[in-house]
Formats: sequence, structure tokens, C-alpha cells
Amino acid sequence: METADIISGPTKFWTIASLLDAAKNSLEARGFEDARLNVELLLAHVLRVRRTQLYANYDRPIEPNELADFNALLERRLAHEPLQYILGETEFMGLPLYVNSSVLVPRPETELLVEKALETIKAKGNERVEILDVGTGSGNIPVALAHFAENAIITSIEISAPAVETAARNIRPYGFARISLHREDVFSDFLPGKMFDIIVSNPPYVPAEDFERLEPEIRDFEPRVATTDGGDGYAVIKRVIEVAAGKLKPNCSLLLEIAYNQSGETERIARSCGFSEVEFFNDFSGIPRIMRACR
Ligand code: GLN
Repeated sequence: METADIISGPTKFWTIASLLDAAKNSLEARGFEDARLNVELLLAHVLRVRRTQLYANYDRPIEPNELADFNALLERRLAHEPLQYILGETEFMGLPLYVNSSVLVPRPETELLVEKALETIKAKGNERVEILDVGTGSGNIPVALAHFAENAIITSIEISAPAVETAARNIRPYGFARISLHREDVFSDFLPGKMFDIIVSNPPYVPAEDFERLEPEIRDFEPRVATTDGGDGYAVIKRVIEVAAGKLKPNCSLLLEIAYNQSGETERIARSCGFSEVEFFNDFSGIPRIMRACR
């Protein structure tokens, strides 16, 4: 069923059950995965209820204004806008986060980066641990670190002004004493003289030519500056490693997320910058995605 059939719906009597079915079919017909989950989350958002509450009220009639609101959101999803932007929120390590098209939607691989950072913090005992987060985006990394490690003090930098605004909204509840946020370019001489115990980053590592082939959800909606360096994919990786070489205290670690095929070259860059201990952690597909490097 096409959306047009749903839009012409006011004359028809819709319930939660029939609207979910029609909308699911409409997404599936256009090749969307997880169609049922998508429409349930969209309708729950419109009706301001939890997704599970939909099941208990399957026969509830849909009012014309609710139908109009739902159709507007469904149209956005049909145009491939990421579900998280439409809902305005997502979860990262079980924590709720505001998101919009100014920031990358946090990914599960980045949860692995945070887990490894938390292990590294734990190994330092109870002492205060100073962390630099390069390219904070939504603020997912500092929020998770502050939430799960009481002794973590995080400094985040982000080049994009609208992303800084979104991150500030997520960071505010933790207090700016624990997470400070600076609009800075990693290629500038930022925070001169300040040294850190851990540096974390999920840099824009997608090569420009791969970016054009990404799914429309990413290519047409997520911020380009958060995804690709516009070159071979190593420009920001290399810069973060160089910055880490200058800003890490002795025996301290850099944790970096990379693409599925970048471990060899990234290790070479790290070793050339004086990092002698380099290890990689595999993602859920068994691919090295997180580098931990120590000088
Ligand atoms: N730190 C954010 C994340 O990990 C944003 C990263 C980015 O914009 N490249 O999702």
C-alpha cells in the first residue's frame, strides 16, 4: 500500500492496529527493513505513549489530527530520513540522547570504544582521570563516560556550531564541571599545554569516494563533516594521533575508532608518532575497529 492510500484515510476509520499494518506494508513495499518497528515507534511518538502501550490499545480509533501527524512523519521516513532524527532521540549505552541532523547518530561500534575507555579508566583506580574527546557530535561519548565512571572529567571539542548546541543539551544534566565543551578545530592549536590521561575519538574516517556510495540515510541526512574527511579517510585519524602524541601524559592511552579496513595503516601512523604499544579490538563482525595505543 502506498502512503497516498493512508493520506486519503480521514474518510476511512483507522485504529492503531489497521494504521500500523497499512504503514508497515507501505515501508516494506519500498524495501525498508524493520518496517514494523519503525511504524510502531513513529505512532507511539505521535500518540505520546510507550511502544508497548500500543498493543494494549489496538482498537483505539485514530483522530484525524493524529493521522495527519503520523503521515507527515511516515513521509519523512519514506524519504529515507533516519528514524532517530524523526523521533529526535536515540539511546547510547542505554542512555537517552537528543539527536538531530546536526550530529551523527551514535553507532553500536562506538559503544565498544566507550567500553574500552571505561576499562582503561578502571585500571587507573579511583584517581581523577582527565579525558579529551575529539569530535563529540551528540556528546554520546562524554555522557556515557561521565555516567559510568565517577572519576572521569571530560573535555570535549567539536568543530560544528550546531553540533555543539546539540551536545550541550545532552551534556548539561551532567554539569559543565564534569564535561566541558569547546568549539574547536582539531587542526588548530587548541587547549595549548593541557595534558590528558586518555584521548578518545570517533573521527570522520570514511573516504570521500566511499561516502557517495553509502545508504541514503547517511549520505543525504547525516552531517558530511562527521562522516568523511573529504579525502582518503586518514586525514583526521592522522591528526588525532599527532595531537594525542603531544597531549597524552606518559603511559597514557589513545582510543580511536576506525573503518573496517584501516587497522594496518592506522597502526603504521601510530607507531611513526611514537606509540609503541598498539592493540585492536574487534567489532561484532570480528573486524578490528577500535585501536588502543600507548606511548
Ligand atoms: N562522537 C560522536 C560519535 O561517536 C560523533 C563522531 C563524529 O561526528 N565523527 O558518534
